[in-house]
Amino acid sequence: MTSSLTIAISKGRILDDTLPLLEKVGIVPEENPDKSRKLILGTNQPDINLIIVRATDVPTYVEYGGADVGIAGKDILLEHDSSELYEPLDLGIAKCRLMLAELVQYKTRNGRLRVATKYTRTTRKYFTEQGIQVEIIKLYGSMELAPVLGLADKIVDLVDTGNTLKANGLKATDTICEISSRLIVNKAAMKIKRDKIKQLISSLEKIV
Ligand code: AMP
Repeated sequence: MTSSLTIAISKGRILDDTLPLLEKVGIVPEENPDKSRKLILGTNQPDINLIIVRATDVPTYVEYGGADVGIAGKDILLEHDSSELYEPLDLGIAKCRLMLAELVQYKTRNGRLRVATKYTRTTRKYFTEQGIQVEIIKLYGSMELAPVLGLADKIVDLVDTGNTLKANGLKATDTICEISSRLIVNKAAMKIKRDKIKQLISSLEKIV
């Protein structure tokens, strides 16, 4: 029986780094995902489709079976924290670090530390493991502004070159986690579409 395979992926760095990998294993979208407005894209392989979703939604689509497999950053997976997904392969792409940062001129102050981040779960875990109580302020972007405007003492954010931190008068003080994109698989799909998924994993494994 032939059944189709749906791969969930997000636009941006991950898509840019994934398309060449997919091409190497013989999967080419029928349209350029960056230009197309379609959210489901066919590929040169009639039984493989791509769906384009927000980065934070990739594990959700895969967990609930909307997609069989997906490609998601470790930062997103740490926050999603699901036992319902397999994570069989580190693709080694979209690499960066999840870091703690503060103003270059940061001065400690009395009272509970305030930390602004999009990564609330990972940040809480990081400070809890050190026995430090913090107030976490959830932001959805431009975290680097928070210490500059006095909203928070520190931030937890992704850092690649460090240029964004530097441009905003911040410095990194600790690495919380090395980040890269992972292949994730729906547990039921792994049973039902085992051959197809195993084949995808092993061909990707050979090139990463
Ligand atoms: P940089 O200035 O090169 O350190 O990049 C930092 C900015 O890019 C921050 O706003 C990050 O949130 C974002 N960023 C860095 N690496 C990644 C990545 N691998 N995936 C998504 N966003 C990233």
